[in-house]
Amino acid sequence: MGKVRQMDKVPVILNPSAHSEKGKNAAAEIRAMSPRIELIETGDIVEVKKIARDVAQSGGPVLAAAGGDGTINAVISSLAGSETALGIFPTGTMNLFARELQLPRKSLQGCWQVIEEGVTRKVDLFGFNDGIFVQVAGVGLDARIIEETTWERKKKFGKFGYLMTALSVTGQEAPRIRVFPEGHEPLEGAFVLIGNGSLYGPAFRLFRHAANDDGLLEILVFDSQSRVDVMRYLTAFTMGQMEKAKGVSYVQAPSLRVQSDSEVPVEVDGEFAGYTPVEFFAMEQGLNVLVPGD
Ligand SMILES: [Mg+2]
Repeated sequence: MGKVRQMDKVPVILNPSAHSEKGKNAAAEIRAMSPRIELIETGDIVEVKKIARDVAQSGGPVLAAAGGDGTINAVISSLAGSETALGIFPTGTMNLFARELQLPRKSLQGCWQVIEEGVTRKVDLFGFNDGIFVQVAGVGLDARIIEETTWERKKKFGKFGYLMTALSVTGQEAPRIRVFPEGHEPLEGAFVLIGNGSLYGPAFRLFRHAANDDGLLEILVFDSQSRVDVMRYLTAFTMGQMEKAKGVSYVQAPSLRVQSDSEVPVEVDGEFAGYTPVEFFAMEQGLNVLVPGD
């Protein structure tokens, strides 16, 4: 059964992304959907966190977020461990978590139906240094690409903006990082990709064995980031052989530490999140999310 009683107001935080027309249209569409929707528009992340925390602390059954993975990431720390379930309107550029949950991405009306009639599922949350994530993280290559892709470029080229940066970053000299996954031998490489969910980047099912409720992270350590090797990894991936490819190590662990001699960038849920050293760890508190029922 859905958690929303027919009389409840449903707070919806909308992050009106300055970068997309889609975000502006979404506000009007969502507001018109039901008189029970209480739309709160704010691009201020501190305020987003505060609103989510207030809803969680007052025992609200649902908080919905309209935005992309960055907006979702902003509310999860406030909702962690509470009874409040997260509903999602995937209106961002990247909506990986919504895809992971198999929400009807092309229909905001369909997403509202999930909020009203869907079921609640608990998913794992992971902490890192002093932050939190729910879908993916990375140290090295992908974090560098995110760090170097300006919002002007994102606005102009969308997802291809990242690809353009990727071409220049894969030409740069690779850092060396050391990865210490809990319960495994240390690993070394040029970059590491970390999954709670299975989907990564523009919705690749990169982490084939991922379950976001088993308390473990999927960890892929890559030995090189040269264009030739990255192409080779991608080829192995398309053949379903990524974990066995030469220069790729795959382990599962509840936590890991990443160190390097130089500062190497970190990303979580597709957002730049500082530099090494970094420690990722399972959190005791999970996140309740609303997903389609059977
Ligand atoms: Mg897992």
